[in-house]
Amino acid sequence: MKGMKRTAGQSNFRNELIITGLLLGGISLLYTDIPFHIMIQSIIHRLGEATVAAKEFLVSILIEPFVQLEFSDLVGILMISIAIGLIILQIRKKMITSSYESHTCPFCETKLHRIHRSKWQLWLSKALYLSSGYFHCETCSHSSLRFYQKAPHLHEG
Ligand SMILES: [Zn+2]
Repeated sequence: MKGMKRTAGQSNFRNELIITGLLLGGISLLYTDIPFHIMIQSIIHRLGEATVAAKEFLVSILIEPFVQLEFSDLVGILMISIAIGLIILQIRKKMITSSYESHTCPFCETKLHRIHRSKWQLWLSKALYLSSGYFHCETCSHSSLRFYQKAPHLHEG
């Protein structure tokens, strides 16, 4: 019981200290001219300078290299993008199967059955601008996605 009383007394004392501290602080602030508005202004000003510096940094990294591109660089980029385009065309060509191949299983040579394509398979064929079909072998349960050249007589996409 004694201990409890003592802690209660201490917390009361602490509250009084806080109150007097706040009062003294408030009064001293009223009597002194601490230029809070100037401090806040300078903080805002420094933040502004920091954001300007950050913007300049980003511009120097992201935009200036492209503005300062030389003609030879542009030709180089053009050549690389043409090469990438040709590589994609080569891959596309290799993916196209003849309609004869697409109807027999490469493992057991039985006739394949066409089954539903998944969403990504549809998107892939659209991205490659090719018709596609997903085939399943009932004998060995092999299944594969086949691509064909888009032709006017193939309406299945
Ligand atoms: Zn098979």
